[in-house]
Amino acid sequence: RRAHYAALKDKPSITRDGIEMTLLHNSGLVADLPMLDDTGAAGVGLFRTELQFMIASKLPRLREQIDLYAEAMAIAGDRPVVFRLLDIGGDKVVPYMRSMAEENPAMGYRSIRLGLDRPGLLRTQVRALLLAADGRPLKILVPMVTETFEFKQTRMVVHKEIDRLRRAGQKIPSRLELGVMVEVPSLLFELDQLLPEADFVSIGSNDLVQFLTASDRANPRVAKNYDAIGLPRLRAIRTVVDAAKRYNVPITMCGELAGKPLEALALMSIGMTKLSMGPASIGPIKELILNVELGPIKQAVAAALSDGSDGVSIRVLLQEWIDKQ
Ligand code: PEP
Ligand code: MG
Repeated sequence: RRAHYAALKDKPSITRDGIEMTLLHNSGLVADLPMLDDTGAAGVGLFRTELQFMIASKLPRLREQIDLYAEAMAIAGDRPVVFRLLDIGGDKVVPYMRSMAEENPAMGYRSIRLGLDRPGLLRTQVRALLLAADGRPLKILVPMVTETFEFKQTRMVVHKEIDRLRRAGQKIPSRLELGVMVEVPSLLFELDQLLPEADFVSIGSNDLVQFLTASDRANPRVAKNYDAIGLPRLRAIRTVVDAAKRYNVPITMCGELAGKPLEALALMSIGMTKLSMGPASIGPIKELILNVELGPIKQAVAAALSDGSDGVSIRVLLQEWIDKQ
């Protein structure tokens, strides 16, 4: 299988009916970056910067952060890397950062909430990213945004750091894109406020589905009841995709959904064209794309999602299409 997938790596990811997809890696350590050459992926759609913090024994210093980001960019070369700001807290434990015991850590003091509340940490990371870019373009993604003001506040922090570097005569990125993760359901009702502010959007289905269904993503006893591409979840995702199109904001899916064949097909059928996934999933998903005729599947899924057709299983419907191909 490996050799088989390797043979696909230089082929463009285009469906039989000519729809082009962009496949990207989820990553977080430089060790997996050279895999870009093996998979032929277009870049890194999600670089989980918290991993460096989780495997360290103490808070990584500015210099260590710069080195990691610069190395990641150097290995990626011309391929873009989307650096997600620290998403610590919840299930991502950083032992040396003292935290209060929380009843519901996934919904607690974590991620950008912590970043905005302890701006020293956020400022240092932003500075490290700006310096690591060394005059090249830079993409930064903000996790766990719950309301638009948090995204705006983060942008202010970034611009303050840019001004600081400029005044100090240091290089600033030739272009900065600031993106927002949609993974907290309240943003579904804020898209008209949020999207005009964002340079790009990335859907985090792991958390979005967890919060939409009020079921812990790590607890199979509850999570198994709620298919991530069940009608209400897929409708929610489609709402974001449609809004992003309306506002002309590029959108990617970076949750684990994108790396599973049936789920990837469901996402493609609602108009998602950028999928970010674990490197091992690139081959199988590319093979699926090359073999599929998406037009008729889009129609079937649209019909299933429309009002009045509750009870239809997208999973069963898509499996039938795959079996037919
Ligand atoms: C997500 O929530 O889908 C996501 C990509 O972020 P993480 O899995 O790192 O929480
Ligand atoms: Mg998440």
